[in-house]
Amino acid sequence: MQVAKVLIDGQSDLILDYAIPPDMVGVLPGCRVQIPIRNKKSTGTVLSLSDSSPDWEGRLKAILKLIDPEPLISTTLMQLANWAADYYSVALDQMIRCLLPETIRQENTAEKKRKIVSIKQSPSKEEIHALYKKAPRQAQILDLFSTLKQTCIPLSEFGPGALSIVRSLETKGYVDIIEESVKRDPHANDEFTQSSPLHLNEQQQKALEFILDSAKEDSPRPVLLQGVTGSGKTEVYLQAVSRIVASGKSALIMVPEISLTPQTVQRFKSRFANEDFSVAVLHSLLSDGERFDEWHAIRSGKARIVVGPRSAVFAPLANLGIIIVDEEHDASYKQESSPRYHGRDLAVLRGHLEKCPVVLGSATPSLESIHNAQSGKYSIVKITERADGQSLPLIRILDMRLEGKNKSGLGIISERLRVSIDKRLEKHEQVILLLNRRGFARSLQCPDCGHVLTCLHCSLPLTYHQTDDRLMCHLCGFKSLTPRVCPECKSSNIMLQGYGTQKVEELLHRTFPSAKITRIDADVARRKNAVRDILNQFRARKIDILLGTQMIAKGLDFPNVTLVGVLNADLGLYIPDPRAAERTFQLMTQVAGRAGRGDLSGEVIIQTFTPESPCLQYARHHDTDGFSAQELEMRRVFHLPPFSHISVLTIRSPHESAAEYATHTLAKRLQGMIPPTVTMTDPMPAPIPKAHGQFRFQITLKGPNARVLSRLLRQLIQEAKLGEDITAVIDVDAMSFM
Ligand code: ADP
Ligand code: ZN
Ligand code: ZN
Repeated sequence: MQVAKVLIDGQSDLILDYAIPPDMVGVLPGCRVQIPIRNKKSTGTVLSLSDSSPDWEGRLKAILKLIDPEPLISTTLMQLANWAADYYSVALDQMIRCLLPETIRQENTAEKKRKIVSIKQSPSKEEIHALYKKAPRQAQILDLFSTLKQTCIPLSEFGPGALSIVRSLETKGYVDIIEESVKRDPHANDEFTQSSPLHLNEQQQKALEFILDSAKEDSPRPVLLQGVTGSGKTEVYLQAVSRIVASGKSALIMVPEISLTPQTVQRFKSRFANEDFSVAVLHSLLSDGERFDEWHAIRSGKARIVVGPRSAVFAPLANLGIIIVDEEHDASYKQESSPRYHGRDLAVLRGHLEKCPVVLGSATPSLESIHNAQSGKYSIVKITERADGQSLPLIRILDMRLEGKNKSGLGIISERLRVSIDKRLEKHEQVILLLNRRGFARSLQCPDCGHVLTCLHCSLPLTYHQTDDRLMCHLCGFKSLTPRVCPECKSSNIMLQGYGTQKVEELLHRTFPSAKITRIDADVARRKNAVRDILNQFRARKIDILLGTQMIAKGLDFPNVTLVGVLNADLGLYIPDPRAAERTFQLMTQVAGRAGRGDLSGEVIIQTFTPESPCLQYARHHDTDGFSAQELEMRRVFHLPPFSHISVLTIRSPHESAAEYATHTLAKRLQGMIPPTVTMTDPMPAPIPKAHGQFRFQITLKGPNARVLSRLLRQLIQEAKLGEDITAVIDVDAMSFM
């Protein structure tokens, strides 16, 4: 008799043996099954099969039902999940949830129907008027049909609780409710006309051939494609994918965040518009129904190209021929909630398991990837020129310390920038302004001389903690008193001024009253399609100035943008994060790459209090290699990633003393557990000490091997009996230290 090891749903790591009844001999690892557990029915995933040992015979409970006739999870994806669970210290069940989203796990959802509301009889003006008084939500729904000029609208678009309102409208004879089982295509309303491949320039051609050659190898190494902004990397991806899918294989394209990269989606949808398979797009804003359809289209092979963000690394593509990670340096590949995996790193692993090439593309690769290329783990191809022959934009660094003495100044918008914006507006060219505010950790920077207080041991900016008026280093634990005057210039103005995007928007409206100004930030991006709509308007030149956070720096291609302004480069530079300089360099280079893409040449103005900062100077010269060489040297000296791994243990509790006490207890235990290669900080309040009503304390670990740190922390948490009001969070290869 055969026995199946089954991972029980929702029970973290509970794995039990079940007998396979004779009518279910087709069960394979990756199959979903229904099983009995403590006299109840539950569901689970078959992990592996074995022959039963005789002494178990007859004592095992049997699987009740095979939910899907075929395994929903491939062997490779199962390996990927197992590896990630171990590496990131999360329950296997959580990783399986990434492979099988909730909508896929539910039984009998094979054909989901959706309700469509179709207008039967449009109300007259008087009727609508009367309805607005009696039943405003009914009136709003009817109004939407005329506003959108549509006769059919899916019920889901009207928001929660709309069904009863629509039912009333049905009774009154205004609308019909139709059940439809059509495929829900999130891009159904968009038209895609097939685009033809461009004639590649020499460097693009070389890059393409390199990728295709590596695809022929048995176990190809990942390829780092380092191409300046506007070098036509996307065209290289498109042609590589085209060749790979022509050979019958499938392709996975990962992008930072779908809502911010609509152009990449569009380019893939268009290029493959006439194929007999479809291009599936996955992202977090899909409805359950849409996700269900896309997932099954991918698994059945109807969709052979998938474009999606970090979670797309788990897409159930069979016969994978290539994985592309666009903007591989982007921080959004790291998931900042559990499971805290890194999408790019898992993509590299998946490529290894699937034996297919992984292309990591960027103008500003992560230092991890550059280091891997230097050590020979990855191969590297470069594209050094823009595809359209344009030169890279001229970047000016503007010293804001001088601006403070200029009385007529507008504060965050220097006189120089104001004049430049005015000039562009006159010529009807467009402007992008970046306010890169990340987190809210407070570092101390002197507004008169630009000096930032940093740790003597790590060179990391110290974080100011209001509660005890101390400065702390979040990497090594160094603490110091807060100076009352700037140690450099003795100014007593050493304090932090803050500007949010909304406040800047107001200032812009006042300064440029006739310009059309729109803002994109995290608040705006939460609305479905909001970013896409704004970007479309910007492309159609209905917006003159686009103001935004780092979101707007990503992969956009607008030929009419000739000026990019960075309002305060220091905002992201002096935060307690060992990658702050790297991130700032990348952001400056990326946002500068938005300027001068068409026939017009571009200009970039970077405002800063520390113009001498090497990362700004390298960005000014578009010198990615220079920056990475000096930054890698610094990281090597201070044992920072990629020369070490950093993992952070965060303890949270609504009670400050409980969190603090637990963290101290854990720290004491940990001290006795760590091998000599690992270092740890004392327990400290997190740089943001309180968030969402929870007090947060941290211990930071550093060592040569991430798995060692991971296992240490897992063992620590398992053995310590933490109180119910305490949550422990392990972040392996932490990318954010807030
Ligand atoms: P990247 O992703 O490297 O920043 P893009 O792929 O956005 O660059 O390309 C920049 C622009 O150059 C796009 O408008 C693209 O259509 C164009 N382009 C790319 N390759 C070529 C080529 N071989 N010939 C002409 N134009 C090209
Ligand atoms: Zn000073
Ligand atoms: Zn330090």
